[in-house]
Amino acid sequence: MRKNIVAGNWKMNNDLAATKTLISELESQVKTRPDVSGAEMMIAPTFTNLMEASKLLKESDIEVIAQNMHFAENGAYTGEISAGMLKSIGVSTVILGHSERREYFNEDDAILKQKVDAALENNMRIVFCFGEKLEDRNSENHFNVVEGQIKNALFHLEAESWKSIVLAYEPVWAIGTGETASPEQAQEMHAFIRNLVASKYGESVSENVSILYGGSVKPANAKEIFSNPDVDGGLIGGAALDAESFMAIVNAF
Ligand code: PEP
Repeated sequence: MRKNIVAGNWKMNNDLAATKTLISELESQVKTRPDVSGAEMMIAPTFTNLMEASKLLKESDIEVIAQNMHFAENGAYTGEISAGMLKSIGVSTVILGHSERREYFNEDDAILKQKVDAALENNMRIVFCFGEKLEDRNSENHFNVVEGQIKNALFHLEAESWKSIVLAYEPVWAIGTGETASPEQAQEMHAFIRNLVASKYGESVSENVSILYGGSVKPANAKEIFSNPDVDGGLIGGAALDAESFMAIVNAF
């Protein structure tokens, strides 16, 4: 049975002190929350704060994950971080393919495919992001774009590897804009994605893969979005920077 997951992408926010503060606020919230949420929690601080965060949350229900990694194991890649380095500090899950990486750092499907392979070789779990731009949706090309992004980076994998894949549909026009896909738009795309995975790998894989929605999810709209049958949680940007908002979204399950 697939898992419900709420993951906070902190992006390039929070220095060490702010990271510690937010983590301690999250821990207090976790202690007081009603024991009803069926969602796994993840947070993705910046690279410089990953080690401290993973130490602080070692015994907690919140998993510390990375926002990115390089595909090479080591070598002359100034400024980059490898899967092995992440594993060595206790980080076993990585976000790959975020639209900001695609847009500002030229990460294309071919690069992402290499990153996916490197993460899996290191026994890491992947939160794989994809989603169409506004012009794709306006030209009704959104299903084609999403299909291409998934096929090009993930459809070379064996079925077994899909146990380590979490999908995150993030329409670019809804990220950080305050604009959210309607629950119907989200469900329509998530059902399309699940069918796409089923057509290649069969239902035992497609029914077990978690598909998260990301794009301006807030406490006020989380319940409605998460209530769709094919939406298994969220990747949260802005609202994950506030402990109360993040936990309210987690508790929307
Ligand atoms: C994101 O960056 O993955 C995201 C969904 O951001 P926001 O929630 O701020 O739209």
